[in-house]
Amino acid sequence: MKGSCHCGNVQFTVDGAPTEAMSCNCSMCQRKGTLMWFVSREQFHLHTPEHHLRDYTFNKHVIRHRFCQQCGIHAFCEGIRPDGAAMVAINVRCLEDFDIDALPLKHYNGRAL
Ligand SMILES: [Zn+2]
Repeated sequence: MKGSCHCGNVQFTVDGAPTEAMSCNCSMCQRKGTLMWFVSREQFHLHTPEHHLRDYTFNKHVIRHRFCQQCGIHAFCEGIRPDGAAMVAINVRCLEDFDIDALPLKHYNGRAL
């Protein structure tokens, strides 16, 4: 799957395809409106320079919310799973040529954490 920010300064590919997406109601996700697909770090390939991205962290600062420094679009987040494995949460809204509306949505009560 190919993904990108709005201006194209951030481009990436992900091995595989999502079968569901997660909608989270935490203070960050609710504002961003992202729908997430969780993959392992190995499935994710960034094709543009790291310095095109900026990071935002909050709360325990364990999740790096990464966004394009030019257009501001949040295309993915990076974090560590409880088992210690590196993972990436892809914003499925940033995938190219992909029908988001056909994807089942799982609602996650992130606000309760
Ligand atoms: Zn951009």
